[in-house]
Amino acid sequence: MERLSDPAAVRAWVDRTKAAGGRVAFVPTMGYLHDGHIELVRRARELCEHVVVSIFVNPLQFGPSEDLSRYPRDPEGDAARCEGAGVSLLWSPEGRHLYPEGFQTRVQTGALTKGLCGASRPGHFDGVATVVLKLFSVVEPEVACFGEKDWQQLRVIQRMVEDFHLRIRVVPCPTIREGDGLARSSRNSYLSPEERAAALALVRALDACERLFRAGERAPTTLLTTARSVVQAEALARIDYVELVDAMTLTPLTHELTEPALLALAVRFGSTRLIDNRVFR
Ligand code: AMP
Repeated sequence: MERLSDPAAVRAWVDRTKAAGGRVAFVPTMGYLHDGHIELVRRARELCEHVVVSIFVNPLQFGPSEDLSRYPRDPEGDAARCEGAGVSLLWSPEGRHLYPEGFQTRVQTGALTKGLCGASRPGHFDGVATVVLKLFSVVEPEVACFGEKDWQQLRVIQRMVEDFHLRIRVVPCPTIREGDGLARSSRNSYLSPEERAAALALVRALDACERLFRAGERAPTTLLTTARSVVQAEALARIDYVELVDAMTLTPLTHELTEPALLALAVRFGSTRLIDNRVFR
């Protein structure tokens, strides 16, 4: 596995790889890699001979009161995991590489980011789209894998690829969970043992709603009330949002449930904000 930092060196590597007939799949991450990330790599390897993983904690997508400085990092552990997963190139750019002096051009997202995490994290998705476009421009992958855990992010990237006519196939990958159902997340490492136990309220709420849906319930208010009450029954949980939206447009479903529908949750446990979702169809 190669390890590079400078975008020019990454470009040269990509050029060499493509000239030799290799196809490149790309997995952008913020590091502190867990099994969810490794599943993206596994999927990427099924699709192309070479997988590039990037690790960059992107300041542009963090709000002033968010966890940029304390975001967990483990560069050597990440490198070992990538090596073990068969990654060809691990790219860890520095801030100055992606945001050099004079940087000023950004991607502006639209209706997809008005609600859900976009409402509680203003500017977040513009920051995500901007950095992903930059990463795409350097790696020029054929395929890019994104996790469904971050459903809104996935939709934003799919839309950006369409809007900018990028020749990249975006491949959604299912959410990987711990044995007890909690979605894997780098932020799970912030949780105290009590908060970790309380965080299962997310899965309980998704399961409760899914049971109702399977039993034929289609009234958004009933589904939402159920999800909210399951979360609220957990003393350590503070709801940021619990929403039922059209899974493609992300517009709220208030009267009628159209499918596929997405039940999306963001809940705080202490100072840690976790998200999870499920698609109903
Ligand atoms: P992050 O490092 O959190 O920015 O995530 C990098 C990529 O991994 C994104 O496409 C995420 O959606 C994806 N990802 C994060 N957690 C999971 C998970 N539990 N299952 C599947 N994909 C995930």
